[in-house]
Amino acid sequence: MMPTSKAFLILTPCRTGTRDRCRRTLHLNCLTENLICASGRLDSLNKAHQNHARIVAVPLSTMLGFTSILLLLGTSRLVFAADIKDSLDSLGIVASFPGDVTYTSASSPFNLRFSVQPAAITYPKTVNDISEILKVGAAENVSVVARSGGHSYIANGLGGRNGALVVDLSNMTNVSIDSAKGIALIETGNRLGDIAVALGDAGRGLPHGSSSGGFGFTSRMWGLTLDTIDAANVVLANGTIARALRGSASSFAIVTSIEVRTFPAPPTGTIFQYSWDGLNTTTAAQIIATIQRFVQVHDIPPHLGGEINLFRGAVRGTISISFAGGWYAHIEKLNATVNPLLRQLPTTSRTSFFTGTYLETAENLAGGSLDTKSAPDGHDTFYAKSLLTPESSPMSDAAILAYTTYLANEGFSAEVGWFIQMELYGGKNSAINAVSPDATAFAHRRSIFSIQFYSSAPNNVPPYPQSGFTFLDGLVESIISNSPQDWNYG
Ligand SMILES: Cc1cc2nc3c(=O)[nH]c(=O)nc-3n(C[C@H](O)[C@H](O)[C@H](O)COP(=O)(O)OP(=O)(O)OC[C@H]3O[C@@H](n4cnc5c(N)ncnc54)[C@H](O)[C@@H]3O)c2cc1C
Repeated sequence: MMPTSKAFLILTPCRTGTRDRCRRTLHLNCLTENLICASGRLDSLNKAHQNHARIVAVPLSTMLGFTSILLLLGTSRLVFAADIKDSLDSLGIVASFPGDVTYTSASSPFNLRFSVQPAAITYPKTVNDISEILKVGAAENVSVVARSGGHSYIANGLGGRNGALVVDLSNMTNVSIDSAKGIALIETGNRLGDIAVALGDAGRGLPHGSSSGGFGFTSRMWGLTLDTIDAANVVLANGTIARALRGSASSFAIVTSIEVRTFPAPPTGTIFQYSWDGLNTTTAAQIIATIQRFVQVHDIPPHLGGEINLFRGAVRGTISISFAGGWYAHIEKLNATVNPLLRQLPTTSRTSFFTGTYLETAENLAGGSLDTKSAPDGHDTFYAKSLLTPESSPMSDAAILAYTTYLANEGFSAEVGWFIQMELYGGKNSAINAVSPDATAFAHRRSIFSIQFYSSAPNNVPPYPQSGFTFLDGLVESIISNSPQDWNYG
């Protein structure tokens, strides 16, 4: 029992609907966005206020000075976490809180350059659970964020900053397919490997990345994943369960499942790679410029998807390049499509081809297995950037040479590991560019390449060195500074 004759500081989370009432009656002040406080005599509070405010009370003498305020903020957060825990427990929703043995791995982002401490990570099993979690978040005035694959580059699946209530969707893994209509309903906790297997078993396919994301080698043929979405089932911030159309502002709602249009899986596919090693900067630049020109001029079929990969050379002044991709038709036709390009390029150092069923090609791209359950989630410590090259203003020869020269020199001595993927979005017959720029949230429908610049800390573990930022920023700048001033690179 707290003595009622002394002065007290009252510090409590602001609660929906109570904050203004408290303020009017008790002249409370907001200390931070989430906390209200007042000083006074506890015996001046009536019972109702004591109950609804869940007061943290300490002797007034301790509230003078900055240190004590910080202490109190910490105390209040404990009360706040306890409130969330009580609410989730009563709903039967599993959650991991700071201090729990599961918390460290549950709150570990894919990119270890970031360290984020969520208020809790919740594991709903149903749409209704998600609705209840959002209501708890609203009642406690805490940010709620969804985590699906967890591959955000900046830990946004954990809220991107401390204190979020994370809705981990890993238990939401239903996939149902209406084979007659080719429509699939996919819950958003599914991993791409599981989706590929479920659809592949039904003779269907969907465009997506090899380990993550909406772009993959089938995208010139089928588009980006987002282009296949007819509707999204969502839970709004206030807990309302709704069906929404494609496209929204960020954090509009938590998507619990998507309704997608699937495609008949092609009977056969080939994953290919043409590699050139030990290239000097001029030859490397010529290869890139030749491929860029080829995809713009030739009538390449949509069945060809690909990317140009750039890697560190074995000696200073050199780099390695590969043109890798997927071909989703008979292999004979691959030769007919690619040979006119290869005839313009130096003799390859190596080539590799894998031909199989559509599902086998997906497995090959995933490193040999689509099994998402037996291996633990990986991590990296990385810094990445991207830019899109407009079809109307392709990379200039000067920009390409500056880029290969930078990689062959600064790239050779860089402290960080790196790779670059120039993903082929455009060229004739690309389903990505067949969509109008204003039809979806992705507006860059007139691009040739989407270039991913990616660099990892030594051994992929923290700390990520400062020199890595300088290297990668300089690399992107080598292209931009050799391009028109109004170059629209996304
Ligand atoms: C190793 C690796 C490989 C990659 N490969 C490719 C590739 O081949 N092709 C490609 O296109 N991209 C690729 N990417 C990029 C990838 O597309 C993005 O990182 C993508 O955002 C990851 O989605 P996620 O669900 O895994 O991320 P999460 O971290 O779970 O979420 C990302 C953001 O979306 C929000 N969010 C997640 N789920 C929901 C939901 N259900 N409702 C509402 N909001 C939600 C999160 O709150 C967060 O803000 C790759 C990334 C990595 C790390």
